[in-house]
Amino acid sequence: MAPTLRRAASLKALNTFGVEARADRLLELRDAADLPAALELLRAHPPALVLGGGSNLLFTRDPPGTVLRVMLAGRRLLDEAGDDVRVEAAAGENWHAFVGWTIDQGLNGLENLSLIPGSVGASPVQNVGAYGVEVRDCFDSLDAVSLHDGTARRFDAADCAFGYRDSVFKHPEGSHWLITVVRFRLSRAPRLRLDYGELRDELRTLGVASPGARDVADAVCAIRRRKLPDPASIGNAGSFFKNPIVDRAIAERLCAGHPAMPIHPGDSPATAKLSAAWLIDRCGWKGHREGDAGVHAQHALVLVNHGHASGAQILALAERIRESVRQRFGVELEREPVVV
Ligand SMILES: Cc1cc2nc3c(=O)[nH]c(=O)nc-3n(C[C@H](O)[C@H](O)[C@H](O)COP(=O)(O)OP(=O)(O)OC[C@H]3O[C@@H](n4cnc5c(N)ncnc54)[C@H](O)[C@@H]3O)c2cc1C
Repeated sequence: MAPTLRRAASLKALNTFGVEARADRLLELRDAADLPAALELLRAHPPALVLGGGSNLLFTRDPPGTVLRVMLAGRRLLDEAGDDVRVEAAAGENWHAFVGWTIDQGLNGLENLSLIPGSVGASPVQNVGAYGVEVRDCFDSLDAVSLHDGTARRFDAADCAFGYRDSVFKHPEGSHWLITVVRFRLSRAPRLRLDYGELRDELRTLGVASPGARDVADAVCAIRRRKLPDPASIGNAGSFFKNPIVDRAIAERLCAGHPAMPIHPGDSPATAKLSAAWLIDRCGWKGHREGDAGVHAQHALVLVNHGHASGAQILALAERIRESVRQRFGVELEREPVVV
């Protein structure tokens, strides 16, 4: 069976911002056996853009070349040693469904990452994280194929160079890898991460005294459903900016001028993480709307498409927000979604 090729395909339903963009060539890869044929087609019509669930992308124009939609399916237990269990899933598996499946298998580790939209294959790309856990905490390895020459390679965690919402795959030197399979190291023994007060409060509200992975996943889902705008109702890609990590001295200076400013530990004792939402909110952007491009009324960090905004309009708004935070606080915001 050959991979499906569509011409002049609309990508509107394939990105959670719901912005219009058209792929001259949209290639759908459902079967790993079709990979060589897909790579040949991609090389004939470059450049290639790999698309998972489209929940961390902003199309500002029609992508040139070929869009490869990864729809590879399958997941399984690999091996067990004591409490440690390795599982693997194909890149096209839905992330949330995969997390639910691991919990059904009695495995612990991914429950805090429930209800993050998108695919398994994209989860290492920005080292997805939520409620105190990141993919790298449970990561084992992944298989990838170079879109340049078809070379196959296995990456371990060190090869992926994971950082806060970051990995080698988000940078030019790693962006030519097509991730096909991801493996995780999970545990039969509970290893709950309940550092977030909000999560502990939710479990209390749900009346759970000694939670298991399923309870934590339920609590995470309840919080996310209540707090985060559902892309099915209003287009968005979750947080549009990363929380900025700055020198601790800069954070302390800012805090002296703005005592209410939240500061969290950074990636080393010399740094601190600021709240991008707080900075944006203080610049007065929450609920702001320009045509159909806007900032969510409850979440300063979430840019939204009220209906017919173009990607370029959303990006222009994002740039104005970035500039105002730079002007007022001297802090540089970095975008989280990939801008095409
Ligand atoms: C409502 C909402 C809430 C969100 N909450 C969170 C959150 O809590 N934490 C968080 O970290 N993220 C969050 N996100 C962002 C998003 O869900 C994640 O980044 C997710 O991993 C993106 O997956 P995707 O399949 O949709 O990737 P896409 O948007 O399709 O692609 C994103 C990037 O990954 C690349 N890519 C995709 N698949 C592959 C592959 N198989 N091989 C190589 N490259 C690939 C693409 O080329 C692109 O560069 C949220 C998004 C939304 C809409």
